[in-house]
Amino acid sequence: MSKHVDVPEDHPRYESLLTRHRIEAGVDKGITSRQGLIAQGRGEAFDYLLGERTTDSADAAERVAVAHLLLAEHAVLSVNGNVAALAPAETVELAEATGADIEVNLFNRTEERMQAIADHLREHGAREVKGLTADARISGLSHERGKVDADGIYDADVVLVPLEDGDRAEALAEMGKTELVVDLNPGSRSARAAAVPIVDNIVRALPNMTKHAQELAQEDEATLRELVEGFDAQAALDEAEREIRTGTFE
Ligand code: ATP
Ligand code: MG
Repeated sequence: MSKHVDVPEDHPRYESLLTRHRIEAGVDKGITSRQGLIAQGRGEAFDYLLGERTTDSADAAERVAVAHLLLAEHAVLSVNGNVAALAPAETVELAEATGADIEVNLFNRTEERMQAIADHLREHGAREVKGLTADARISGLSHERGKVDADGIYDADVVLVPLEDGDRAEALAEMGKTELVVDLNPGSRSARAAAVPIVDNIVRALPNMTKHAQELAQEDEATLRELVEGFDAQAALDEAEREIRTGTFE
């Protein structure tokens, strides 16, 4: 994590404050929208309630999500302004570890932000960044909000959509895609639309998924399918809610 900001390392919210600074820097760089600041605030509140850690059930969901990525014909990791600001290198590493494409996909789409995010991802090692062609549409969404690449998200069978808006998450699921959602709010429509809801902070989820990918890459297809089939999305959401209700706070 970058240390450009003056946060004392013994501060109890150290990681959280650094993460918040990354979002601020993202806004300054034209990567993150101002609405992204609000989304971050909402995420922080849930992270606080979860104890700012990856729970066992989130870890299990991350492993299953990776199995889906490895089994996919065509997997795509969708990147918005918050994800690009918080975890650009971690996104590239997961894409490399699973053979997934990376596509920029914005709720508030402007060509400037699309370009800034694509450049930022390339600076962090991305070889190819999709989303700029925007020659296909997700059905059921208005024109600007539905734009995707025909050879990217439109064509994908498995998509990872972190911090996604509920409408878009539902529309992608309705297109028959296997949707993997990272969202700290287990009650969010996005998490509820997901085949695999991952209730964890994106900054912890992505590196942990890459670690799982390195292990699962050795496994045969039958083992991966077993993992995928044994997963219960509702049970994962229930477990996250239980963690929130029964957590102890520092
Ligand atoms: P809907 O209810 O339609 O799903 P929303 O109102 O939740 O949409 P946003 O506020 O844009 O829409 O959603 C942002 C979501 O992302 C929130 O649920 C928030 O908890 C989650 N979130 C924010 N920051 C992070 C993060 N760093 N890691 C994981 N999830 C995050
Ligand atoms: Mg939501």
